[in-house]
Amino acid sequence: MPTPIRKSHKLDNVCYDIRGPVLEHAKRLEDEGHRILKLNIGNPAPFGFEAPEEILQDVMRNLPTAQGYSDSKGLYSARKAVMQECQRKNIKGVGVEDIFIGNGVSELITISLQALLDDGDEVLVPMPDYPLWTAATNMASGHAVHYACREENDWEPDVEDIRAKITSRTKALVVINPNNPTGAVYSDHVLKNILAVAREFGLIVFSDEIYDKILYDGTEHTSTASLANDVFVITMNGLSKSYRCAGFRSGWMILSGERRHAQDFIEGLNMLASMRLCANVPAQNAIQTALGGYQSINDLILPGGRLLAQRDMAWEKLTAIPGVTCVKPKGALYMFPRLDPEVYAIEDDQKLVLDLLLEEKMLLVQGTAFNWPSPDHLRIVTLPWVDQLEEAIDRLGRFLARRR
Ligand code: PLP
Repeated sequence: MPTPIRKSHKLDNVCYDIRGPVLEHAKRLEDEGHRILKLNIGNPAPFGFEAPEEILQDVMRNLPTAQGYSDSKGLYSARKAVMQECQRKNIKGVGVEDIFIGNGVSELITISLQALLDDGDEVLVPMPDYPLWTAATNMASGHAVHYACREENDWEPDVEDIRAKITSRTKALVVINPNNPTGAVYSDHVLKNILAVAREFGLIVFSDEIYDKILYDGTEHTSTASLANDVFVITMNGLSKSYRCAGFRSGWMILSGERRHAQDFIEGLNMLASMRLCANVPAQNAIQTALGGYQSINDLILPGGRLLAQRDMAWEKLTAIPGVTCVKPKGALYMFPRLDPEVYAIEDDQKLVLDLLLEEKMLLVQGTAFNWPSPDHLRIVTLPWVDQLEEAIDRLGRFLARRR
């Protein structure tokens, strides 16, 4: 028997359960011929939310000239388009050199944490979070320290908790706004308070704004970076959600604010960007068209729009289940309902989600996969058509009724 080949210890504290073990069971059930209702992944296209036609046409037309590598930081035209987007979002003092194009925000998160962290350096990450932030911090030999977002306060970050968790090892603070999984969109007031803490302790702010155009009920989004020119903010965004082409793997990050003291880190970013040569070039061509073109996402979120209708219906139906409450999402593609522990005594929410799959043939993600500390939340994707969402929530209601 040869020596077992094990995964590296770098992965000991790395966990990404959105595509976790329950999916294996789902694949098996599908192989057996079952139809599974999937409310587990925020991937718009398979639910009929296709990318704007002009993006597809542009990528196809430019394909012949997209065969070579581009500049490591990205095509000039794409970065210029992101620069103009900065102007629209009121992020000041950004030039093309301050913009990096990546293979999705995911790659840029990984690169920036690798470039920043030494062993044991700490990053403040929201709880609940989009778990890549925690996983990528830990993989970069850092330590993700979770700060609370308060459900009773529409899931806004608790700035006092942030402050209380800062140590001499804290290097950065992550803001996810609009938020996955809670759907919260933060007030300027809370963003300014977060920036004040970052300013006081010299922290970099990573602001993940990938859902910035998916907003409901007239909610407005403010880019964190637009509220301070003297704090180093790295804003992340991309085409996966608002422009519905997650499969293209196209995203960008914007360096803004005071960064003269961060030249060494920025050199590290440049090096890691060059080591992966460049981002997928055909997809980079989509950026200019997407940002400069017709913003069809608005047709989906305004009254009469499909995303809005789905969020409304799902929220009404979900909160009608006894013992289930949910802060109504103001943005993004998710709901993060709470199952009252007095009504549902859940010890293991991964098992709950597995039982839900086995009994009702539907997939959700358990709250603990988002680094939520107690097994009393679920995340539901609001992308399926209204009739499918309705059916899924009926099934969930039936399943929960058996557990009351
Ligand atoms: N950030 C957040 C908050 C997300 O929800 C996601 C994907 O779901 C990502 C980043 C990753 O996006 P990308 O497809 O650009 O890698």
